[in-house]
Amino acid sequence: MLPSRTFLVLAVFVCGVCSALYLAFFSYYKTEEIQAAKGRLALYKSTLESEIERISYFPYVLSKDDHVIAGVLGQDLQALNERLAEFARRSQLDAIYLLNTDGVTIATSNYDQENSYLHNNYGFRPYFKQAMEGKGGEFYGIGVTTSLPGLFISAPVYAPNGKIAGVIAMKLNLHRLEEIWMEAGENVLLSNGDGIVLLSSNPKWRYKALFDIPPQRREEIKAVRQFDKIPLVKLNWSRTNEDQASVNKVPYLLVQEELHARQWTLYFFASERSIQVQAWSHLITLTVVASLIFAAWQFKKTRRIGAALRESQADSADLREANRLLAVEIEDRKQAERRLQRTQDELARTSRLAALGQLSVSVTHELGQPIAAMKNYLTAAEISQKPPKASLLTQMSGLVTRMENITKQLRFFSRPGSKEFEPVNLQDVLKGSEELLAVNLNSGKVQYSSDYPDHPVWVRGNRLRLEQVLTNVMRNAMDAMTDEEDCILEVKISQQNDHGVVWVSDSGPGIGQSTIRDLEEPFYTTRASGEGMGLGLAISTEIIKEHGGTIHAENRHPKGAVFMIEIPLEKEATHA
Ligand code: ADP
Repeated sequence: MLPSRTFLVLAVFVCGVCSALYLAFFSYYKTEEIQAAKGRLALYKSTLESEIERISYFPYVLSKDDHVIAGVLGQDLQALNERLAEFARRSQLDAIYLLNTDGVTIATSNYDQENSYLHNNYGFRPYFKQAMEGKGGEFYGIGVTTSLPGLFISAPVYAPNGKIAGVIAMKLNLHRLEEIWMEAGENVLLSNGDGIVLLSSNPKWRYKALFDIPPQRREEIKAVRQFDKIPLVKLNWSRTNEDQASVNKVPYLLVQEELHARQWTLYFFASERSIQVQAWSHLITLTVVASLIFAAWQFKKTRRIGAALRESQADSADLREANRLLAVEIEDRKQAERRLQRTQDELARTSRLAALGQLSVSVTHELGQPIAAMKNYLTAAEISQKPPKASLLTQMSGLVTRMENITKQLRFFSRPGSKEFEPVNLQDVLKGSEELLAVNLNSGKVQYSSDYPDHPVWVRGNRLRLEQVLTNVMRNAMDAMTDEEDCILEVKISQQNDHGVVWVSDSGPGIGQSTIRDLEEPFYTTRASGEGMGLGLAISTEIIKEHGGTIHAENRHPKGAVFMIEIPLEKEATHA
């Protein structure tokens, strides 16, 4: 539903457009109708003028006729009657008649008809008076004898002595023109100089006055009996503008033509209603066509929207289905994750149990041997019942030291490492490790060399734990070279990008196919029982991870191994 305000605006707009179209159509057809009316009126004007023109010279010509001149002198009038009747018939005139100087008809074409003019006196008629003054006379009026209207024209008839001896007159009935107008179904009227309608296609308009006739003029008209006893009432009409008028409240388009010679005016009233009907019918046709086009467009649009709606409904159904499948998949994954988590927990528990088992085996094995040895020494001393020798004490002290070393290594796992990090210079770490390993390094068996930059390489860490790592890696290197003739141990410190790096390389057997992942496995060792528990690299890797660093190991060409320890630089100290 459209909001009422929008509907109102739309209604006003449509009404405005319709009004404008109606006015355009009306104006178009009005122009066309006026053009057509002008054409018709020009035709009627020329018909009327030629009809009058046709006979306008007759009176003059007849006035020169010998028979007429003889007649005016009172000779041979019966023959003249017949002659005039013949002329009237041939020239389609109502009557041709000869008046004497008193205005009395002495010869006429209708001498033998009921309403014959013979002996009637028309001396009061203007056309008689004008002819008696020696001029051609013309007068339109209703016949006093026949009561039929017509145009009277006359000419003086001169006697041989040159004096006016009578008047020859004739009457032309213009009623035929009215019939033509009527047959054409048109509203045409002819008015005279007084505005009195002489001829009209509509009989009701005939002898009506178009304008007010002054009383004096009315008297004059009455005196010449121009319209006999007809009251000459005013026609109920008014002009709305130059080309529009209403007659008896019916609107017309109006076109007029002047017949200047006689001060007559021809009016053509074209029906305005027919133009209104034409304009309306075109407007309605156009509105219907526009409505049909609009309805078709709306129908197409609705269908298009419907199709789009159905498509989007199908899409959203697909989407809902996809969402449902996704939700199912998410649930499946969650379940799988839960299962995985459970499995991982289970695995961790199993690993812990396995590690515990392995640790128990390792500890039992490592400690079992010195304990059994000590037990044997003690049993032997008891049997001999002699005070123990100094060498026995030394041997037992060695066994205790070995057991202490084993427990020291195990303690690393039980003791939480110190997390106190501070800037540490890698050169200092190296010095610490060198001191710890001084006995081995200075034994003369190992060719030891170190290389480091002349500026400190600061990393962030715990110095003692880093010493523990480096010492372990260096000791591993020396242990690996036990059976080698040339024992070369090199340690190099450098700064690469944002890391401090320590390389420890040896000339031992190398790590073979193993990777650092293998070596750092707890309890992985290639050493003989009692010489190592395979925990050194496991511990070292943990410590370096705590420092955000990494340990790599690879074989060295032509022989030996290289361990590379990377630790992030201490930024503040570096900047300082
Ligand atoms: P352990 O020293 O107790 O064996 P580690 O975890 O320190 O335990 O070392 C694990 C194993 O890694 C050693 O047993 C040895 O086989 C190997 N390894 C370590 N360092 C080297 C090295 N520089 N050259 C060859 N093998 C090495």
